[in-house]
Amino acid sequence: MTGRVFLSSSSHLEGAAPLSFEKCCLTAMGCSGHQTNAGFLYKNERLLLYPSYEGVRLMHPPGCPCRFLTTSDIVNIPENNLSRGVKPAVAVLLQSSDGYVLLTRRAQHMRTFPCVWVPPGGHMEPGETLKQALLRELSEETGLTFSEESLEISTLGLWESVFPPVLSIGLPVRHHIVVYHLAQAKEDQQTLQEGLILNKDELDASAWVDHATIVEVVQSDDFGQSRPVPQRYIKATVLENGQKVEKNLPLSILMSTMPRTSEDGQELNQERLSTGTKFALEQLVKKDFPPGGAKSPPGGAW
Ligand SMILES: [Zn+2]
Repeated sequence: MTGRVFLSSSSHLEGAAPLSFEKCCLTAMGCSGHQTNAGFLYKNERLLLYPSYEGVRLMHPPGCPCRFLTTSDIVNIPENNLSRGVKPAVAVLLQSSDGYVLLTRRAQHMRTFPCVWVPPGGHMEPGETLKQALLRELSEETGLTFSEESLEISTLGLWESVFPPVLSIGLPVRHHIVVYHLAQAKEDQQTLQEGLILNKDELDASAWVDHATIVEVVQSDDFGQSRPVPQRYIKATVLENGQKVEKNLPLSILMSTMPRTSEDGQELNQERLSTGTKFALEQLVKKDFPPGGAKSPPGGAW
């Protein structure tokens, strides 16, 4: 695991300062809301972020734990976590030629985000570019190996991710800026599925979600108050005792992103979609249907 996130007022590395582990990235960039536009570059194992109207969307969940840390909370964060700093990471929405996007479920034994649905992704290795890192993670996690030229790769956005995602579960132990990418493959979903080998050390399920499902997920609200949760299922491949089993899982799993906890801090809906994944799917829908564009998404206004 390598790399560090730096902030600057411009696209120059001179004068850039590392973002402290306990600091909210958006607050440190002078943004009082939950989203802004930022330019970025990755060089010499540094992810540099700077304010830019032409940049990509940078966002965090409204409950970003680092916004709420008190001085006494910070004193209680172990020094080895503080000194780790904020790390860059990559994630990739792999899209088949017929429009399906691959999501995977993190295994229950994972230290961070167990049972949470995410796209393939992870940390940077020394000397890698962002594209090299996402191709390596894709291959390690799913067995799907591509060259840079065989995929059309673009950036979807930047997401600030803190674990645990809410302070009621505990003080931050990991802090990342995730660069979400879209990688469009030339193969269809069925061909890709045939080559899929889930890495059981990290994952225990996968699913290909179609465009209509992505739009439903993006439009869902976490607690089902403004929109009822559709009683539908997604087809998933689940690893059970090392064997691939086809299962129907309720779509409602992907409609929930925010952890709900009992009074003693136990998570009640451990299996859910990560907030960053929902953000990335939203950027994907916006890319397909730009505001004011001629196309409009199925299912009405948005
Ligand atoms: Zn934040």
